[in-house]
Amino acid sequence: MSNSDTVLRDNLHAVQARIAAACAASARSANSVQLLAVSKTFSADDVRQVAACGQRDFGENYIQEGVDKIIALQDSQPALVWHCIGPMQSNKTKLVAEHFDWAHTVDRLKIAQRLSDQRPAHLAPLNVCLQVNIDGGETKSGIAPADVLALATEVAKLPRLALRGLMTIPDPVEGFDAQVAVHAKARALFDEVKAALNLPQFDTLSMGMTGDLEAAVQAGSTMVRVGTAIFGGRTYAA
Ligand SMILES: *Cc1c(COP(=O)(O)O)cnc(C)c1O
Repeated sequence: MSNSDTVLRDNLHAVQARIAAACAASARSANSVQLLAVSKTFSADDVRQVAACGQRDFGENYIQEGVDKIIALQDSQPALVWHCIGPMQSNKTKLVAEHFDWAHTVDRLKIAQRLSDQRPAHLAPLNVCLQVNIDGGETKSGIAPADVLALATEVAKLPRLALRGLMTIPDPVEGFDAQVAVHAKARALFDEVKAALNLPQFDTLSMGMTGDLEAAVQAGSTMVRVGTAIFGGRTYAA
C-alpha cells in the first residue's frame, strides 16, 4: 500500500498543527509533545516519504514487520528512531533489543531483563516505557497502576535499559472531558512515580492517538502515537 507523497506531507502537517493547537490550548510549549508516527501496515517507502518531511520517530506494532523496515531504511540520514509499541512475547525480545531504539510495552520484569541482557554492547541502552493498564480494561496488556512503582524500581536497575516513562492505551471513550479524565489518571501516576524514583531521564508519558491526541496533550502527554491521521486507514486491524 502506498500513498502519494503530497498526501502524506499534508497529513503530517495537519497532525503537527493539531498538536500545536492542543499545546496552545493548554498553555504548553509546542515542543513539549513529541510526535511518534505509527507506520504499522504501511510500506518502507511511505516511511521514507514521511521522513523526508522531517519526521524522525516511527512506531511499529509487529516486530518482524518493524525489523524489515528498520533494515530497509538503515541508511537514512539523519538516522530514524524506531519505537516498538506492540505486544512483546519472550521469543521476540532479542529482535527488539537488537533493532529498536525504544520499547513502550514492557509490563513484566522478565521481559525487561531479557531486553537488558540481549541489548548489544555497541548500542546505547534501550529506552523503555512501562505499559500501564490505566482504565482497567480486562482484555488489555499493561501493569496495574498499583504495581507500577515496584516494577519501575526494578527496571531502573537494569544496566542496558534506560527507563524513560509510562505508556497507556485506554479504551476509547466518548467526549473530550471523559478522555481527559482517563489521561489525567495516567499523568498523576507518572508524576507520582517520577517523584518516587528521582530519575532525571524519566521524562516520557506516551499516550494519545489519532482519536484523542488533543485530550492526551491537555492531560500532560509528552509523546502522542499517531497512525491513521498520517498514513491513512489501515486495511487490517492492528
Ligand atoms: C495503532 C496504534 C497507534 C496509532 O493508532 P491511530 O488510531 O491509527 O492513530 C498508537 N498506539 C498503539 C499502541 C497502536 O497500536
